[in-house]
Amino acid sequence: MTGQTILIVEDEPSIREVVGLYLERAGYQPLYAADGRTALTIMTRQMPDLVVLDLMLPQVDGYEITRWLRERGDTPIIMLTARREEADRIAGLEMGADDYVVKPFSPQELVSRARAVLRRSQRSTAVATEQPLHFTDLTIDPQTRLVTVGSDEKTLTATEFDLLWLLASHPRQVFSRDQLLDKVWGLTDYIDPGSVTVYIRRLREKIEANPSEPRHIQTVWGVGYKFEP
Ligand code: CA
Repeated sequence: MTGQTILIVEDEPSIREVVGLYLERAGYQPLYAADGRTALTIMTRQMPDLVVLDLMLPQVDGYEITRWLRERGDTPIIMLTARREEADRIAGLEMGADDYVVKPFSPQELVSRARAVLRRSQRSTAVATEQPLHFTDLTIDPQTRLVTVGSDEKTLTATEFDLLWLLASHPRQVFSRDQLLDKVWGLTDYIDPGSVTVYIRRLREKIEANPSEPRHIQTVWGVGYKFEP
């Protein structure tokens, strides 16, 4: 039993219940919200370890919840999206969700994803024995998980931090998208390699002075990405 809490925000009762049942069987403690406002109330009281979030919700929608969460830290988010909502999915990832599943999905798949995302956010804590990395305009501190650009402190999600840490701790080494998926996400079968592009773009927006002409996170055409110190 892990006892970690997972908040399921979903207005369709059948999905909410099935997901909760599977998560409970896997040893997690599910919490339920049928709409966005209830979710905010629950999270204000106590922040769950993970949020499973339907994007289309009555009252306060999934995007607003994602924004609200990202203003407050790096609680991992798995989005639930419909098949035809690809643009929404990308928007959600860009706003800071960690992963997504497309409806209809198997509850077992969702449990695997939840486990992987939680493992990643815990592994981030394990990185904490390492020393900070210093570059001229950039400091990456695994103890505090803080990234400083010039004099600005940036808040990164667990996934963004892991991705940056992997690249920056192997300067000039080129990683393919599949290698990044494997090392950062750990579940290459489920995740579309296109998600890596979205994450790279988000990282650049956070740490580069000019994201369209990145100095640190460079694209190696036809191969992947590397960190230039
Ligand atoms: Ca819905």
